[in-house]
Amino acid sequence: MTNQDDQFKKVISHAKEYGYVFQSSEIYDGLSAVYDYAQNGVELKKNIRDYWWKAMVQMHDNIVGIDAAIFMHPTTWKASGHVDAFNDPLIDNKDSKKRYRADVLVEDYVGKLDAKIEKEVKKAEKRFGDAFDKDQFLATNPRVLKYKEEGEAILKRLGKSLENENLADVKALIEELDIADPLTGSKNWTDVKQFNLMFGTKLGASADSAMDLYLRPETAQGIFVNFLNVQKTGRMKIPFGIAQTGKAFRNEIVARQFIFRMREFEQMEMQFFIKPGTQQEWFDYWKETRYKWHQSLGMGADNYRFHDHEKLAHYADAATDIEFKFPFGFKELEGIHSRTDFDLKQHEEFSGKKLQYFDHEENRSYVPYVLETSIGLDRMFLAVFSNSLVEEELENNTTRTVLKIPAVLAPTKAAVLPLVKKDGLPDIAKKIVDDLKWDFNVDYDEKDAVGRRYRRQDAVGTPFCITVDHDTLDDNTVTIRHRDSMEQKRVKISALRDIIKKEVDVKEWLMKM
Ligand code: ATP
Repeated sequence: MTNQDDQFKKVISHAKEYGYVFQSSEIYDGLSAVYDYAQNGVELKKNIRDYWWKAMVQMHDNIVGIDAAIFMHPTTWKASGHVDAFNDPLIDNKDSKKRYRADVLVEDYVGKLDAKIEKEVKKAEKRFGDAFDKDQFLATNPRVLKYKEEGEAILKRLGKSLENENLADVKALIEELDIADPLTGSKNWTDVKQFNLMFGTKLGASADSAMDLYLRPETAQGIFVNFLNVQKTGRMKIPFGIAQTGKAFRNEIVARQFIFRMREFEQMEMQFFIKPGTQQEWFDYWKETRYKWHQSLGMGADNYRFHDHEKLAHYADAATDIEFKFPFGFKELEGIHSRTDFDLKQHEEFSGKKLQYFDHEENRSYVPYVLETSIGLDRMFLAVFSNSLVEEELENNTTRTVLKIPAVLAPTKAAVLPLVKKDGLPDIAKKIVDDLKWDFNVDYDEKDAVGRRYRRQDAVGTPFCITVDHDTLDDNTVTIRHRDSMEQKRVKISALRDIIKKEVDVKEWLMKM
């Protein structure tokens, strides 16, 4: 097992052990690629959603939210192109009977080349010490350049073949690269086939009158079909945006990466309606704005990178991904797409209704262009959770497991702990909880020695522990301990609210954008 696998396993078991994520219907042995959020997970998920909503809707005068239904008229999905084109190329291994996404097999091969580059960098770093210039090394080292060129050529060919629906060439590529089934090593592959990712269901009681429906594979279409309703009732002027968070469903072929790739997941999407011709400017704007949102959480600039698309979806004229360094390498976290007027025009054609905006300044009507930002809430959850989980060596040769979730997102902001379960200390502690819970999610914990309680709160990611002891009885002060630094300070009970607020307040964090 590699270090990466090891770290990923730790993430998954920690998520279960500390009440963040459970397998769905676990007592029935689970359902593949479906997960439930537990008592702490639901809070973290909500805090991420709120952090996004505040930044996107509340802080932008020209962005409003909606909450469209998961079921939509089935023609929606004909118009959007999903019925005909929402496919993934799949390939089966004849020996192991395992199914894979052909493009992912190739991309993982390229990922291994990236890992080799990283190894070269690490080696050189060691060799050259302080004199090491990473950028220069990446630009000139022959071995690095060879890996880079090889990777780029492979991705280019893959992109072209997928674009031209040349599935035979995708298979040829897999064979030429000698790619084996990652689980068994077998190279006995079937041909590559297309597979539609939408889940179907039926609306209506009797079999004859039932209508075939799909569970939405993205939330975006609920925004497009409501574009004119929102624009008119909200008297919105272009440029303006409509944001939405909600469930989406995809019958993913490969689903072995915990909450990274789920069959039921949640998206946070924003469609920004703009004047045709201004798409490049807005593409750049949203690329930068979304990048800054990620950076505001302080999870390390090195953990993010952009990946511009070679292969564009049927609706896009430019696209980039914000990738994050997950435990299994850099993968897409968020997509930013310039969707042109494709969707609105398609809905005009299929519905026979006009979806145009009258521009008073230009005195003409047009179908707006659209810039989309689309992030998976579950993927963001995994990014935050996996990046926060660390094993720390302490001075006295012990280790502690700590979940350094950005305080603004932490499920519980503070735990209040009476030093002992007597002498009136629990009553004071409970009174502090009662007072603070108007403003924050707080926890009360009196079981076990205080050191063990600190460790438990560290592992669950609580930014503050507040300890009530015998001195509290005399002077109304408590000890406040900081999760990350483990620093402890004596403060007045009356000062607690402000101390906590300063560290967990959304404003303090978003101001860093
Ligand atoms: P991928 O290439 O990883 O399948 P995608 O390019 O199909 O993703 P989009 O259609 O752009 O993804 O969806 C927008 C966002 O929704 C993604 O950036 C991702 O964060 C999230 N997302 C997509 N599919 C899933 C899934 N199966 N499980 C969890 N999140 C997902």
